[in-house]
Order: sequence, then structure tokens, then C-alpha cells
Amino acid sequence: MQAHASEEQIRGVCQKIESLGYRAHPIPGAERTAIGITGNQGEVEPGTLEEMPGVQEVIRVTKPYKLVSRDIKEDNTVIRFPGSTATIGGAALAIMAGPCAIENREQAFTVAERVARAGAQFFRGGAYKPRTSPYSFQGLGEEGLRIMAQIRDQFGLRIVTEAIDNESLELVEEYADIIQIGARNMQNFSLLRRAGRARKPVMVKRGMSATLEELLMAAEYVMSEGNYNVILCERGVRTFADHTRNTLDLSIVPAVQRLSHLPIVVDPSHGTGKRNKVTPLSRAAVAVGADGLMVEVHHEPDKALSDGVQSLYPEQFEELMAQVRQIAPVVGRAIPRLDQAIGPLSKAGTSARSLS
Ligand code: PEP
Ligand code: MN
Repeated sequence: MQAHASEEQIRGVCQKIESLGYRAHPIPGAERTAIGITGNQGEVEPGTLEEMPGVQEVIRVTKPYKLVSRDIKEDNTVIRFPGSTATIGGAALAIMAGPCAIENREQAFTVAERVARAGAQFFRGGAYKPRTSPYSFQGLGEEGLRIMAQIRDQFGLRIVTEAIDNESLELVEEYADIIQIGARNMQNFSLLRRAGRARKPVMVKRGMSATLEELLMAAEYVMSEGNYNVILCERGVRTFADHTRNTLDLSIVPAVQRLSHLPIVVDPSHGTGKRNKVTPLSRAAVAVGADGLMVEVHHEPDKALSDGVQSLYPEQFEELMAQVRQIAPVVGRAIPRLDQAIGPLSKAGTSARSLS
């Protein structure tokens, strides 16, 4: 649409598209609104649409992913959260940290307090865990979600947690701020569609053997249902390398940013599987231009019920933050100031560091 197109003109074009039997996706940008058209089998006859008031041009997107593509929206998508200054995809880096799994209230609160103090704006943690073994800890379920909601109230952190099926997605949508779709579910198309009907942002993690195009198509599934707040996450892929759990493919970051307007964050925890590699790869992820990081942190990793070996100690996470704070400005990014209103350090948190 033209930059000055009115709401009414945008609505009119959407109605026209729907009357032709297609689906209209109005996607506001910084300058102007683009209206994506999906559901067409062949080429859409541009004639009728091009003549409508407010229409700038009709562009054919030839790539298999349409709504995800930069062809439809040139400027980066910035995801915002009501009642919070946290963003994903803007100039500020989005830092998500927390344990692999929510194990109990005390564990979750202890870690949350430490990561909030270090400057994270998002708290991660699984309430539903997709485990390789059916005998491993599967997560606390709704109880875990309730604990996370209390953490949001207490520390002002936004909550990121995984939905493993349609049933858990109902609950995750209710409690969380970001619905995570895990690597193992990246091509669970019915789950992606359900996430596309949710009213919360969705983070899609790259499958262990997914190509860039497959990752973008997974995001397209979510967007095709009308949810345009999608975040991509690189978490490593399987290769012959056996010195790490996965091979963290940082080259996908600039590749995604060339093709898509969606933000991409990097998870160096699952990406390496080894605590001593998380900070170096976090530095590299920020340097390569990632929109954020997702890092596993545990105050007692030796006792963690999952992924202890790749979890940072809170002190290590503080050091990681200090380092990425210095790297970020080199690539035109920043980490928001530590301005969260957190009261005095509770007994649960150990090292008393004052807020700067
Ligand atoms: C996670 O982030 O908790 C997780 C299970 O990651 P992935 O889906 O990337 O394995
Ligand atoms: Mn984990």
C-alpha cells in the first residue's frame, strides 16, 4: 500500500482479496502496510487490485515462503510485549536465560533472580520437556507454567516456554509471553498451524537437520494462520563433529537476515552442549548479528534434572553479559540497561552484586 494509505483503503483491499477466495494478511511496516495474499494456486490477476485506492503496486513473491520473505516487508520485524520495554528484532539484543527445565519453585526463582539481575529480559524454562527417553524427567506441566507466571510478576521477566503438542499449547498460550516450538517439532505442521492461531509470539527452533528453507517454511506455517510475531532460533544441527553436542551454524544468521524480516536468536547451549563453549559462541553470535541469545543457566548444574552439563553457573552468565555488552555496540546493537525494579537480593540468590 502507499505510505499514506488509510485504514479504510487497507480494509477495502483486504475485503477484495477475501472476496476473490484468497486470504489477506495485512502486515504493517515502518513506512507502509503490505498486504500478503495466500491461498492462490496460480498467479493473482493484478489488474483489479492495482487500480484500487491506496494501492502502490502488486508484487509477485516467487519464493516458496511468502509472508516470511523480505519481498513482502523490507524492514525488520520488531516484536513488542505489552507492559514491558523488552523487544526482539530492534536495536536492543533480546537476552533469554534460565534453566533447561522448571524443576521446582525454589530452583526457578533462584535462577530467575540471578539472570534478571545480570540483565536478561526473558526467562526461559521448560514445563513440558521433549525428552529422548520416556523415562527421563518430562517437566512439571501446568505447575511449571504457574511458577513461571509468578516469576514474571516478581521480576518483570517475559516468559519463554515450549509447547510440545496442541494440548500443551493451549496452556502455554495462556501463561507464557512467547510460545516455543522445539527443534523436534519444527516440522510438526499441525502444531505450527495451531501456534499460528495463538495470540502470543512464537519462537521456532531450527530442526536438527533442517535446511534454511525448511526453517523459513516452518515460520511460514505459523504466519499463514495470521500470527506474524515469529522469532527464529538457531540451536545447532547434527554433523559428523563429535566434539560438541551439535554444530552451531552461525552462518545461518546473515543468511536469514538477507531473506527474511523475522528476528533470529541463537541458542549456544543446545548448540554446543558444553558449558565451556557457551560464552565463546555467545560472543560470536552477537558479533555475527544475531537479534538475541537464549542461554541455559542453573545455580546447581550438577543436580539439574536436564542439561546440567551445558548450563552456565549464574556467575558465568554475569560474565557472559559483561562481555556481550562490549561486543554489541560494534555491530550497532545494545543490551538494555539494568533498570528493572528488583528488590534486595533474596536469600536464595548467593553472590550479592549491586545493580549498576
Ligand atoms: C529447549 O530449548 O528447551 C530445547 C529442548 O531445545 P531444542 O528444541 O532446541 O532441543
Ligand atoms: Mn535444554
